[in-house]
Amino acid sequence: MTDDFKRATANLQKAVPLMMKNHVSVTPANYALWYAYVDNAIPQLNIDLDNIIQDAGICPPAASAQLYNNYIAHRSETDMNQLRESVEVLVNEIASSVTDTLSDTSDFSKLIDKSFSNLSRVENEAMSMDEVLLIVRQLLSESKEIKHSTRFLGNQLETATKEINRLKAQLAEVQQDALFDGLTSLYNRRSFDQDINALYQSEQKLCLILADVDHFKAFNDNYGHLLGDAVLKGLARTLQRGCRDGISAYRFGGEEFALIVPNKPLRIARQFAETMRRATEKLSVKDRRSGKHVGNITISLGVAELQEKESVESLIERADGLLYEAKSLGRNRVMPL
Ligand code: GH3
Ligand code: MG
Ligand code: MG
Repeated sequence: MTDDFKRATANLQKAVPLMMKNHVSVTPANYALWYAYVDNAIPQLNIDLDNIIQDAGICPPAASAQLYNNYIAHRSETDMNQLRESVEVLVNEIASSVTDTLSDTSDFSKLIDKSFSNLSRVENEAMSMDEVLLIVRQLLSESKEIKHSTRFLGNQLETATKEINRLKAQLAEVQQDALFDGLTSLYNRRSFDQDINALYQSEQKLCLILADVDHFKAFNDNYGHLLGDAVLKGLARTLQRGCRDGISAYRFGGEEFALIVPNKPLRIARQFAETMRRATEKLSVKDRRSGKHVGNITISLGVAELQEKESVESLIERADGLLYEAKSLGRNRVMPL
């Protein structure tokens, strides 16, 4: 086990009981908050949280959310990993407690077997009344115990299973949010930054395409923001479908998209950009208000190949500069020609 992992486990064992005591539900956000609390990572957070509990007796959800926003939400990627790691620990702990429960259940079935064999003794052996009564009394108390405990364990098992499923779903959601854009389901800007830096460090060939929807402000003004959103979704789908040979599409921001083209020369990346430009021209979305299909959606694109000793920032700037040129030359085109 790494030291980080040990610390995550220790913090987990402290955080969860505290959360239970203060009636805080075990969500990833809350867990991140209480993790930071027991970790003493942010002293001011501890002061605020202590004050809230002193005032309110518990830590109410809204206050938790506020604290999360103030102290945790903006913190870096590593915290997300730490959170993921410790939620995994939690899931494993619950999973092993389920296993314990299962082995207890098998003890109970042994107990039941024993009772039945006692019962058969009553039939098979000549026993005195006192002996029979003793066995009946034993049976009665054992069966009560069995009934009580199996119900308790059954509940526990069900709760634990639900909890595991809930945590797994939340974990998937947290990871989903961290990687993907909510509107278009493309990879988001954070994913772009991670991917381009990873590729950059691998020192292979690399081209970057930046694409921007033409006159999109006017589109929103004419047809409304909702139809604008539908255009972005449709365009994202078009780009995603076109991706092959290791090319990935990202929502770079607003109405801007990025495509990373690994291991290909500029010529190929430009061809790909041109294919995407043409596919976008064919895109049409249905306007619910008029029932008509709205087309004429175009994009401008800038394509740049990573030069020797060039930084990622400079590559992005050059692609953006070429995109700007495509705009000023009349839009709906790829630069360089
Ligand atoms: P240009 O051809 O020069 O790119 O013109 P433009 O109008 O596309 O550029 P501008 O930067 O002036 O406007 C971008 C518009 O994109 C404004 C903004 O409302 C819209 N936009 C950004 N993100 C979204 C979004 O998520 N949904 C919708 N519907 N519109 C968005
Ligand atoms: Mg723009
Ligand atoms: Mg635009």
